Amino acid sequence: MIKFNIITIFPDIFQSYFNESIIKRAQKRKLIDIKIHNLRDYTNDKRKTVDDTPYGGGPGMVMMVEPIFKAVKKLKVKSQKSKVILFSPKGKKFDQAMAKRFSKLDNLIMICGRYEGVDERVAKYIADEEVSVGDYVLTGGEIPAMIVVDAVTRLIPDVIAKESLNEESFSFKKQKDLANENYEYPQYTRPEVFIPNKKWAACPPKYAKHFWRVPKVLLSGDHKKIEEWKKRA
Ligand code: SAM
Repeated sequence: MIKFNIITIFPDIFQSYFNESIIKRAQKRKLIDIKIHNLRDYTNDKRKTVDDTPYGGGPGMVMMVEPIFKAVKKLKVKSQKSKVILFSPKGKKFDQAMAKRFSKLDNLIMICGRYEGVDERVAKYIADEEVSVGDYVLTGGEIPAMIVVDAVTRLIPDVIAKESLNEESFSFKKQKDLANENYEYPQYTRPEVFIPNKKWAACPPKYAKHFWRVPKVLLSGDHKKIEEWKKRA
């Protein structure tokens, strides 16, 4: 079972997302374990300070190294396959291959930055990797942590049916089968025909462009043809 240890100064942010749907069920079935740690519990002073002004000047506040050091020290277990990641816009871009790699761990410790960022010594001496979720700046590392937990959880055996995973976008099987194809085929469900503006419903076939149809092949019942279509779509 993989354990996700998330270090944050806003522990309440996670409650709703992690208590719904697949992530909730995976925890219930003990396929994953998520623990949220309030960084303020690792401070020494009465005010539970986690940030300070930057050396050399500049705007905003910077998260201090010491509380993070203490939190990670407590959460790292020597016998386990652990990794410590720090969320940062300058980190390596998170992708499906990285999610797959993380899914093999026993213990994934995630540090969520806030303010102007985190004292660089955390990246230098504490984190194994800096991870970015994209080329934009978020207010904190909490949404990136949810993204990583979600994407990694889907890859833990038995969380999702194997057949679904094999066909999913960015799945390794798919990449091997279809050299240029990284994405899952398009999906359709009922109704067969959707007419967004009912005034076209009674019109002759030349108005067919106003009918939004499911591709015929998917209704044909010909599984061979359907598989071919899925590969090309
Ligand atoms: N001053 C920093 C900069 O310009 O790069 C941005 C700090 S940001 C407001 C605060 C925290 O949010 C970061 O320390 C990081 O943990 C998190 N964060 C923001 N954008 C992120 C991204 N694209 N990927 C991962 N984490 C991000």
